[in-house]
Amino acid sequence: MNKSMLDIAIIGAGTAGALAARQLNAAGYTCCIIEKSRGLGGRCSRRNVLDGFSVDLGAPSFAIPYHEHPNLIANINQWISDGFLTEWIFDSADFQTQLPSMKRVELCGSPSMNAFQRHLADGVERITQRLVKKLNRLDDHWQLLDDSGDLIVEAKAVIVTAPAEQTYNLVAPYELASSPEQTASSTVADQHEHAKNPILSASDASLPQYICAITFDEPQTQLSDVYTGEHPVFAKVVRANSKPKLSNTDNDQTPEVWILHSTHQWAQKQNHKEAKSVADEMAEAFCEHFNLATADATKTTAKVVTSHYWRLANHDHVEIKKSFAQYKPEHQPFLWNQELQLGCCADWLSGGGISGALNSSQQLCDHITSQLKQEV
Ligand SMILES: Cc1cc2nc3c(=O)[nH]c(=O)nc-3n(C[C@H](O)[C@H](O)[C@H](O)COP(=O)(O)OP(=O)(O)OC[C@H]3O[C@@H](n4cnc5c(N)ncnc54)[C@H](O)[C@@H]3O)c2cc1C
Repeated sequence: MNKSMLDIAIIGAGTAGALAARQLNAAGYTCCIIEKSRGLGGRCSRRNVLDGFSVDLGAPSFAIPYHEHPNLIANINQWISDGFLTEWIFDSADFQTQLPSMKRVELCGSPSMNAFQRHLADGVERITQRLVKKLNRLDDHWQLLDDSGDLIVEAKAVIVTAPAEQTYNLVAPYELASSPEQTASSTVADQHEHAKNPILSASDASLPQYICAITFDEPQTQLSDVYTGEHPVFAKVVRANSKPKLSNTDNDQTPEVWILHSTHQWAQKQNHKEAKSVADEMAEAFCEHFNLATADATKTTAKVVTSHYWRLANHDHVEIKKSFAQYKPEHQPFLWNQELQLGCCADWLSGGGISGALNSSQQLCDHITSQLKQEV
C-alpha cells in the first residue's frame, strides 16, 4: 500500500455522503469524498436564478423525524444550535380543500438547502467533478477509477452513497446484498423473484420528477407559502421567498419566486422530455389552479426562470421494502460487507428523504466504528 492510501473513500457528496465524511473524519479515519457534480448537496442542490438569488433545485426542507428516526434528534438539535440548520415556519395549505392554512415548521439549510451538506463536510478532503466509473478490488484495498480508466484514489474501504441505479452500476460485481438461502418451501416464482439483486430491484423502483421556478411581477399575497396534497401535476409548490434568508443580499427588490415540484406520475407521463419543454405547461397549470392570469403573450404574469429534470429524484419505498425483505435485517438501513470493506448508505436504504439519508449514514458509520472497537 502506498502512503497516500485513504482509510475510506466516500462516493457522493449528498446528505448521506456529507454526514459519513463528517462522522468518520471525527472518528479518526482519513477520508475523501469523490463527487461527480461541481458542488456539494446531491439532490439538495441549488441554482442561481436572479442576481444574488438562488433557489433549491431539489429538497427545500425536511420535517423533524421525531417518530421515524428518534436517534437523529440529538444531532439535529446540535446542528440547529451550530447554525447548520434553520427552522422554517410557513403557512401550509392543501391544493384541494379550501380550509385555512396551518402554520408548520420544517428544517432547512440557509441561504439554501445545500448549505447544510457544506457545513457537514467542512474540513473533509474532497474531489469534485469526477465520476467514479469503476471500483477495482485488489488484495487488501480498492482503486477508484474514472470514466477514462484513470486512478482517482486508493482506499482501504469504500462507501457508496448514490441513488440505487448508480450504486448498482458500481457494486454489482461484489457481494453486498447476496441471495438468501432458498427454503424448501420456496416456489419457482419466489426463487425467480429472489434471484434478482435487490439493489437492481431498488434501481428499477427509481422515480423521476420535474421542477421549475417561476416569478411574478406582483407578490401573490392571497396564497399560502406551501401547497401539498392531491393535484394532477404538482406534488408540492413553494413560495421560495418564504424561506429563511433566501438571498445572500437580502434585497427587498427580489421578485417573488415559486418552486413547482411535479408528481412522479406526471413526470413519468412526459417520457423524459427536457425540463425546458414542460416548464411552461407547469407554469400554466399553477396559474390555472389558483385562477391567476396565464403566462400568455398579452397577460404575462408568470415567467419561468429555471427548470430541471431529476431522472432519479426518489424511489418507490414499498417496492424497495419488498425486494429487501429477504436480504437484510429490518433494523439495518445500510449495506456493509466487512470482509470487502465495502458499504452503501443513502436515502433509499432508509425510507427516503433527507432524514432517511441521515439515518442510513449515521447507522452505517456507527456500525463501522463499533466494528473497529471490537477488533482492537
Ligand atoms: C425535487 C425534489 C424534491 C424533494 N423534496 C424533499 C423534501 O421535501 N423532503 C425530503 O426529506 N426530501 C426531499 N427530496 C429527497 C431528498 O433530496 C433526498 O432524499 C436526499 O437528498 C438524498 O440524499 P442522498 O445522500 O441519499 O443522495 P444524493 O443527494 O442523491 O447524493 C448522492 C450523490 O452521489 C453523487 N454520485 C452518484 N454517482 C456517483 C459516481 N459514480 N461518482 C461520483 N459521484 C456520484 C451524486 O452526484 C450525488 O451528489 C426531494 C428530492 C427532489 C429531487
